[in-house]
Amino acid sequence: QDFRETLEITPLSTTDHIEPHRISVCVRKRPFNKPEITRKEIDVVSIPGKGALLVHEPKQKVDLTKYLDNQVFHFDYSFNETATNDLVYKFTAKPLVQSIFDGGMATCFAYGQTGSGKTHTMGGDFTGKQQNSSKGIYALAAQDVFAYMNHRRYANLDLSVYVSFFEIYNGKVYDLLNKKTKLRVLEDERQQVQVVGLEEVYVTTSEEVIKIIQMGSSCRTSGQTSANANSSRSHAILQIVLRRNDRATTMHGKFSLVDLAGNERGTDVSSNDRITLVETAEINRSLLALKECIRSLGMNSDHIPFRMSTLTKVLRDSFIGEKSKTCMIAMVSPGLASCEYTMNTLRYADRVKELKGNSKAICADAQEPLESSTEEESVVDTSVYDS
Ligand code: ADP
Ligand code: MG
Repeated sequence: QDFRETLEITPLSTTDHIEPHRISVCVRKRPFNKPEITRKEIDVVSIPGKGALLVHEPKQKVDLTKYLDNQVFHFDYSFNETATNDLVYKFTAKPLVQSIFDGGMATCFAYGQTGSGKTHTMGGDFTGKQQNSSKGIYALAAQDVFAYMNHRRYANLDLSVYVSFFEIYNGKVYDLLNKKTKLRVLEDERQQVQVVGLEEVYVTTSEEVIKIIQMGSSCRTSGQTSANANSSRSHAILQIVLRRNDRATTMHGKFSLVDLAGNERGTDVSSNDRITLVETAEINRSLLALKECIRSLGMNSDHIPFRMSTLTKVLRDSFIGEKSKTCMIAMVSPGLASCEYTMNTLRYADRVKELKGNSKAICADAQEPLESSTEEESVVDTSVYDS
């Protein structure tokens, strides 16, 4: 008998209380899609209860039921295939909305292999083609931002909301709200990072934000330039910025919502052409940099290696300051065919959360040189392709 059947499934209820952490790491398992059902794929991921996740990695491909190698992971929350975007939002990004009103920087990342549900979670489904068409975290966060704006507690702050939406592809920034214009990233002597010329749209309702997201998302996946080649190879970043009207529009708080590029390895890519290798190297570099920056934030380190990639450069504000809060949602596919990618995703997520609340481990880890990464994290050398 498969022991998974004996596990009691305790799904999260929306009434559970949530405390916002400085860094929280969650995992979401998506349901099987039609092709996977047709192929009768085996489900290798189970969510036995709050925070826990089990992967049943077969040691042997011959008899899948007999040789199960079970791996257990623990995260702040784990969402099974029945979880809605609303529920995931409630336990991940929602607690961070208050922190931007309190003058902090909040960041929410969707991480995982292509097809694991990052865009579904962040952007939601605007096509209306699917039966249970739902809002994603972008739209749900925007709704809450305006709910806070209308709250009397924040009325005396005299705030305005601005939105920007851009993509990072091969280390270059493209403005999704301005015809994918390529933008420069500059750092001044005070280490302040600026994306020069980035559109920042003034908004007064969440409906306006949703329209902007739709516009930007369609810009992301269509068009003729090479940067449109495959949206799964780029990071998409929606930023909701609060500015003070009374103080020369100084930034008060910022929420960055990031739909990361697929984390699959270079060897997974079918066509081994030049562009693909460069793309893969750049993605690996940025995801490694991201991990190091979140870990530095967790350690309260003075040294944040944000210069390691364009992604971490433009998110520099997110990694500094007492009030910075970060949430990562690791997305996994359920099937056996994705098992290897699922394990990679979970190991990465595990590394991001690892240091929380353990000062001894933090000190020991801080001595570790950055380059001593394990093989799966290694960055492909791009120097030969740079011209
Ligand atoms: P990614 O952005 O990680 O490449 P997508 O979000 O595009 O993946 O998801 C791939 C497909 O799976 C899409 O058709 C999406 O609608 C579907 N999907 C992903 N997650 C879920 C979910 N939790 N429930 C229903 N469908 C999902
Ligand atoms: Mg996507």
